[in-house]
Amino acid sequence: MNKKIWLSSPHMGTKEFEFVKDVFDSNWIAPLGPHVDGFEKDLSTFTGTAHTAVLSSGTAALHLALIALGVKAGDEVICQSMTFSASANPIAYLGATPVFVDSETSTWNMDPALLEQAIIDRIENGKKPKAIIPVHLYGMPAQMNEIMAIANRYEIPVIEDAAEALGSWYREQACGSIGKLGILSFNGNKIITTSGGGALISNDETLISHSRFLATQARDAAPHYQHSHIGYNYRMSNVCAGIGRGQMLVLEERVAQRRANYRHYVAQLSDLPGVTFVSEPVGFFSNRWLSTILVNPAKSNGITRETIRLALERENIESRPLWKPMHMQPVFEKMPAYVNGVSEKLFDNGLCLPSGSNLTPADLWRVTDVIRGLFAAAKVNASRTYQSQD
Ligand SMILES: *Cc1c(COP(=O)(O)O)cnc(C)c1O
Repeated sequence: MNKKIWLSSPHMGTKEFEFVKDVFDSNWIAPLGPHVDGFEKDLSTFTGTAHTAVLSSGTAALHLALIALGVKAGDEVICQSMTFSASANPIAYLGATPVFVDSETSTWNMDPALLEQAIIDRIENGKKPKAIIPVHLYGMPAQMNEIMAIANRYEIPVIEDAAEALGSWYREQACGSIGKLGILSFNGNKIITTSGGGALISNDETLISHSRFLATQARDAAPHYQHSHIGYNYRMSNVCAGIGRGQMLVLEERVAQRRANYRHYVAQLSDLPGVTFVSEPVGFFSNRWLSTILVNPAKSNGITRETIRLALERENIESRPLWKPMHMQPVFEKMPAYVNGVSEKLFDNGLCLPSGSNLTPADLWRVTDVIRGLFAAAKVNASRTYQSQD
């Protein structure tokens, strides 16, 4: 069997282990310590954000962001529909209701026009949304100028879900640094990883220090254990933060490697009938966390994203359909949703291709050779059918 090619696997540099060894040597094996502080500084510097709290996951970061903004049971929170379920689950943890908004076609992220319609409609229904969660999907920045203008007009805070977008830039600003709060993820499949982990970033010191307090079991300042809030155990361990510090040293390299994967796919696949890519609008810079294609079966001699996925699977190559929109998920389908058909079509026709920064040129050629082979065979078949009809 051919060597397995993964969608997006962890890629350690050379310094991570030294940081972890230092953790063992100093016995700082705890959910705090010098590497936690160091990793927070590294992230603040990189994103140009004043304050960072590193946490046990991106999901925990979103949960704390919603709590910091005062979201409570019965509230409504607007969330991009085209995303991973972790963008929406923390809304449900709080007993609040997610209101889903569909995507636009240039970035596949939250459609600003539809966002405004949703806000107006929710206000008319009697409830002003408490927060807006746009997502920078697959590393592509959302239309933040438009989204921020609407959010500011209605005075609703924005939490940017930048879990997939560390190293992506929107008009010279780091993704995650534009809204009131931003969240990052260092899960095993993300552009850099600490095995599992996340961060909450903001220029608002009070929001971050309160979140850090809640994440550390909400211990009041007292020699005994005293609590006046419900707390969480959401902090990142010093061991994981050590890995994160090492990964920060190679982040720019990882972005360059992922962007090179994307260029290979564009060079090898964009002439195939019905295959298209999502390109960066002017001023947008994507880390290309995952390279994705759309396959239009009306133009591709009947080839679908599913025939491609199965052909790759037969060759021991992992690929995956795009995120299934939240408004179509059994667990969320009864929630209010403002849809325009874009995310549903993306889900039907889109495929994520292997995108790890550790893929070799030979790996990338294996992927594109399988796909090109499939299209060549379909073309021969299509012309045979055509001749037999003569
Ligand atoms: C990965 C991811 C998250 C959750 O991050 P975890 O660290 O895995 O909890 C949230 N939103 C999006 C869009 C993600 O891709």
